[in-house]
Amino acid sequence: MTTTRVLTGDRPTGPLHLGHYFGSLQNRVRLQDGGAEVFVLVADYQVLTDRDTAERLDEHVLGLVLDYLAIGIDPGRTTVFAHSAVPALNQLLLPFLSLVSVPELNRNPTVKDEIAHSRQSSVSGLMFSYPAHQAADILFCKATLVPVGKDQLPHLEVTRLIARRFNERYGPTFPEPEAMLSRAPLLLGTDGTKMSKSRGNAIAIRATSDETARLIKGAKTDSVRTISYDPAGRPEVSSLVLLAALCLDADPVALAGEIGDGGAAALKKSVTEAVNERFAPIRARRAALAADPAFARAVLRDGCVRAREIADATLEEVRTAMGMRY
Ligand code: ATP
Ligand code: MG
Repeated sequence: MTTTRVLTGDRPTGPLHLGHYFGSLQNRVRLQDGGAEVFVLVADYQVLTDRDTAERLDEHVLGLVLDYLAIGIDPGRTTVFAHSAVPALNQLLLPFLSLVSVPELNRNPTVKDEIAHSRQSSVSGLMFSYPAHQAADILFCKATLVPVGKDQLPHLEVTRLIARRFNERYGPTFPEPEAMLSRAPLLLGTDGTKMSKSRGNAIAIRATSDETARLIKGAKTDSVRTISYDPAGRPEVSSLVLLAALCLDADPVALAGEIGDGGAAALKKSVTEAVNERFAPIRARRAALAADPAFARAVLRDGCVRAREIADATLEEVRTAMGMRY
């Protein structure tokens, strides 16, 4: 029996948040614990898609690894690596870019949204081509499952397209990976838009109880007093209800009913308590791990060594398939 390979990752642009936890991290740990071979990518080159320089990169990369370890990623079973440290992975980008057209790259709705939120006055070539780079991230280890948030679905379609076209042109080489979405494929932040590291609307996994209370207190709601769970009609309130429900492993409709006429104040109190209780052990573990940064750095270094071995083998296979062995 072959082991399922899983790849997913995050940009080192800030601390991981509750959207990451419920959107993707929890599934990574579940898959790892279920025996899948999991690869977790620190997408450092991708930091440069929407800004000129990768600021405080070292701090953010270390922070990401600490977050992974704190939430249950086990470096004995899961490979944590940074794509800049894996040359053969990056070389896959060249043939992969030849397999997609400019209009296909141009019409990606997630890229359009990211351009709208970008800090740059003009759009870089990396912004358009990074979904093809993600194909290299996923296919270098021939992952078949990608636990991600909803914003990643257009990118996964690009990966599937590239895998399919490569196989058609050069012979069967890559699987067509599937996305794995969670119950919270798009958790909203405190301003009612996608919770994102870079938008100042996130509650970090590692936040203190007081910070969490302050952030939730400032979260956008609406003027209807009775709390209900209606994601389409009341996105901000429903996202808060969902967050509490996820933390409590409860049903959001029932939870909204319990809060009922308590209004936004009661809702925010419930959410704050639920988040702080749920994340207390993870936050304590993270603080303990942060006291020994050398351990987290070693985890990343070892992961990069393993990723390089796999990427070298895949690139060899790709070059052979393309008739480029000299
Ligand atoms: P940035 O603002 O720097 O782009 P981000 O918060 O969007 O940061 P990413 O590193 O781009 O985080 O995304 C990492 C993974 O987390 C992706 O699989 C993405 O789909 C998932 N994810 C990010 N934000 C959310 C969210 N709000 N809800 C669910 N999943 C999310
Ligand atoms: Mg993002």
